Amino acid sequence: MLVRTGECNQCGECCKTVNITVVRDVTLRQHKTLKELELYMEYRGICVVGESIERNELFYSINIPCQQLGPDNECKVHGDYEKKPLLCHRYPIEPDGTEKCSYQFQPMTLHIV
Ligand code: SF4
Ligand code: SF4
Repeated sequence: MLVRTGECNQCGECCKTVNITVVRDVTLRQHKTLKELELYMEYRGICVVGESIERNELFYSINIPCQQLGPDNECKVHGDYEKKPLLCHRYPIEPDGTEKCSYQFQPMTLHIV
């Protein structure tokens, strides 16, 4: 298990797209092949950005910046616990591969006394 440390530097990287995870085998049955799926999704403005065969998942990214993203990429509701969505408070829960993200993750260490 990983423990998150650090604070959000408000780079805005995680606020520019909507990311969705779907069930891989069900989706591929509908579209027949990954190439067909990508073609259809491209027409609809959705990027297929990855997959996990092990977890039976496909990852979509839609280029829709958040309405609360300010001109300098800052979150306009960052300090407001009622207006900032829970998902945003919790993000990221694991390393997301974004170099700009200022959070760090370390393995949890157990101290047995
Ligand atoms: S509410 Fe703030 S943190 Fe959440 S996606 Fe929008 S701009 Fe980003
Ligand atoms: S990518 Fe990380 S540092 Fe940047 S806005 Fe999102 S949570 Fe904050």
